[in-house]
Amino acid sequence: MPVVCLEPDLFCVRMPIPFPLGSVNVYLVRTRHGALLVDAGLRTPDCFAALQEGLESAGLSFADLRAVVLTHAHPDHIGLAGVLQERIGVSVYLLDVEAQLARRVWVEDYGFRVRAVTDMLRAHGVPDPWVEEAGRQVARLRELVAPFPQPTPLADGQVLEVDGFSARVLWTPGHSDGHMVLLDACGRLFCGDHVLPEVSPNISLYAGGRPNPLADYLDSLRKVRDLPVIVALPGHGDPVVDWAGRVDQLLEHHRLRLEAAYALVPRQGTTAFRLAQQLFFQGASDGACPQEVPLPLAVGEAAAHLEWLRQAGRLVREDGPPVVYRPAEGAL
Ligand SMILES: [Zn+2]
Repeated sequence: MPVVCLEPDLFCVRMPIPFPLGSVNVYLVRTRHGALLVDAGLRTPDCFAALQEGLESAGLSFADLRAVVLTHAHPDHIGLAGVLQERIGVSVYLLDVEAQLARRVWVEDYGFRVRAVTDMLRAHGVPDPWVEEAGRQVARLRELVAPFPQPTPLADGQVLEVDGFSARVLWTPGHSDGHMVLLDACGRLFCGDHVLPEVSPNISLYAGGRPNPLADYLDSLRKVRDLPVIVALPGHGDPVVDWAGRVDQLLEHHRLRLEAAYALVPRQGTTAFRLAQQLFFQGASDGACPQEVPLPLAVGEAAAHLEWLRQAGRLVREDGPPVVYRPAEGAL
């Protein structure tokens, strides 16, 4: 069943996506005269059909949509927003930081998005054929999003009011530079990919992105841990009831991950690619690009951990290519 009624005014539409997590959640919230969506799946016939079914389950049609609010501008969260805006003129909201970035990569220069991934992979020691394949995969994502909507920017701390729906917007950089969560008046936290119930959200270092995304992420977890959350509604997986408990698990996961990463850095140094192989691709042969965890996510995440350790003074970096991290003199 792709549509689950969570509360009388709240539906979760589980949309199929061709990525490792398998589905993305779009939340449909009834408002005074219609409904709004939090996130918008991919622009595929399957996602569109799931949305139609969600609206029908709520006794609504496309014309009843009052707004689309996007937690962040990753393809599986924004895909249908532009189509909906084009067809019914619906307002699309996105945090100001993310809106700026998203405009640049999805509208003005898609090559920038491709290069942000391929430059990062190449800099961190990934072999050229794998870099080229990753670049082709990123390039193909564009058609799952176009057209990109004209978003209305939101500010950190702002209260968004739409047709009787009211929620505070909180900037939570880490998973993406301009990621945001929304806490509504009933204690429901639409948390996007900031906190997921089953997996640790991907935190990647990208060329042109914020310089220490893992530090951003850990700060963002602490920022939202003690919010009065009754239930958190994530971008993938089931609702989270023990909010602070799940946040603590993720903080602990990264504490352990940082220690594991540090322990894998030999005296002569390592690259993020080598570390990603050790952390994510045990047993992968050098000839084949592994598929279980997408390469850019694995290498980006390893690089984010190495960069956190460097900025904490425990590693030093030698800019390559490839970029090599070594233990700092006298570091514990
Ligand atoms: Zn995401």
